[in-house]
Amino acid sequence: MEREVRVRFAPSPTGPLHIGGVRTALYNYLLARKLGGKMLLRIEDTDQNRFVPGAEQYIMDALRWCGIEIDEGIEQGGPHAPYRQSERKPMYRQYADQLITDGYAYYAFDTPEELDAMRARLTAAKVPNPQYNSITRAQMRNSLTLPAEEVAQLLADNIPYVIRLKVPRKEEVRFQDLIRGWVVVHSSAIDDKVLMKSDGMPTYHLANIVDDHLMEITHVIRGEEWLPSAPLHVLLYRYLGWESTMPQFAHLPLLLKPDGTGKLSKRDGDKLGFPVFPLEFHGTDAQTGEPTVSSGYREAGYLPDAFINFLAFLGWNPGTTQELFTMEELIENFSIERVSKSPARFDQNKVRWFNEQYLRAKPDAELARYLMDDLTAQGLTVDAAKAEQIAALVKERATFPADLAREAQLFFQRPSNYDEQVISKKWNPQVAAALTEFADQLPTLNDASPEGIKARLTEVLEAQGVKIGQVLQALRVAVTGQAAGPDLMHIMHILGAQETAARIKAAVAALPA
Ligand code: GLU
Repeated sequence: MEREVRVRFAPSPTGPLHIGGVRTALYNYLLARKLGGKMLLRIEDTDQNRFVPGAEQYIMDALRWCGIEIDEGIEQGGPHAPYRQSERKPMYRQYADQLITDGYAYYAFDTPEELDAMRARLTAAKVPNPQYNSITRAQMRNSLTLPAEEVAQLLADNIPYVIRLKVPRKEEVRFQDLIRGWVVVHSSAIDDKVLMKSDGMPTYHLANIVDDHLMEITHVIRGEEWLPSAPLHVLLYRYLGWESTMPQFAHLPLLLKPDGTGKLSKRDGDKLGFPVFPLEFHGTDAQTGEPTVSSGYREAGYLPDAFINFLAFLGWNPGTTQELFTMEELIENFSIERVSKSPARFDQNKVRWFNEQYLRAKPDAELARYLMDDLTAQGLTVDAAKAEQIAALVKERATFPADLAREAQLFFQRPSNYDEQVISKKWNPQVAAALTEFADQLPTLNDASPEGIKARLTEVLEAQGVKIGQVLQALRVAVTGQAAGPDLMHIMHILGAQETAARIKAAVAALPA
């Protein structure tokens, strides 16, 4: 029988979730949904020194905001609960013991000073990468070098020790990565990783493999930074006797800075003015203890669908020219085969572009609600019908919901100054006279639609012998104060004939012709 597809997102709660982590979660989710499988959220908190309060809740809130649904996890529960590794602590020890019994792991009693001395010795001997491995372990204090009675005594005396994996000296470790193809690593490049720490906590490596096995994970989809650990994980599956159900690996491409010069970091975001986290995060500076705030896409006005669509394309493409995908469409079209090996470059213009597309595609009534909320917060009142008209007009100039209210200001304030460039070039007695005549006629208009206003303007200008091209910019500045903006006929229509006329007259009075 085919195994049910089961994937997991396994973050460590060491801080807010970076957008690279959100992408990893997304690709896991897309694959699970596409193949009718399960998506797990496992919190990997065995490294208590790096634990950051609030990070776990942040991860769950961020996934929820993105629309990434979890089937089994610390909130949802599930057949393999608990899903937080610190609560699974008693489950790991037996596997480390099994590895020792089978000759694949050993006790190491070296003190921190002894480890430092080893590294210093190897560095002095010009060994490029000093490690505890198949060669150096012979000089250290472990259950492979010490007599059995001494080991037994040390254990009986509760002398602190770690359990290390006994990595073979000369062996090729190979596995097939779904994105990278065959990966072959020589075991001499792998050190004897610690599996159990002296405090009895498993390390990431042991806990990760044990849990993936117990939780029946079929695909491990994670960032490229974990690729160097994969051969070690393959050895662990083999030594634990679990090779036949070992998950398939897929290591996702790195996310690079916008200029392509290295991994995207929090600092790049701060420097270039874009968030690298989905939600704002309130933390404390590790050095100074001062409170810190890291900006988030949600608070910056990004819509979750746009953010997700953008992230999906950082490393994957559908093989067509279609760029806009709902979550359902992403699920339908996603495949690991179309994930790229080469790194993806972060593009802040592209994420803005996606947001614009999603914002402008929303029904005007929904945009009107954003607008009304923001205007109400500013103490301005507007009815729903008017808000909808304004939203429909100004949305072409908006990237974020907050831009709607900013663009709408002209409807609520008469201009207090007038664009100087336009005035110096376009304002003259003839224009002022023509606009005065237009203003006089406006209140008599039967049809104050944009078309009706345009028709009357054309008539007046013809009678005055002025070309429309000569007055249009001056008229815009008279009505709005600004040289550019949404369609002028629509602006005048929304303002209404009375208000438009009053604004033109105020401009004529204020501006010396
Ligand atoms: N806890 C690891 C992390 O923080 C998980 C890596 C993996 O998916 O195996 O990314």
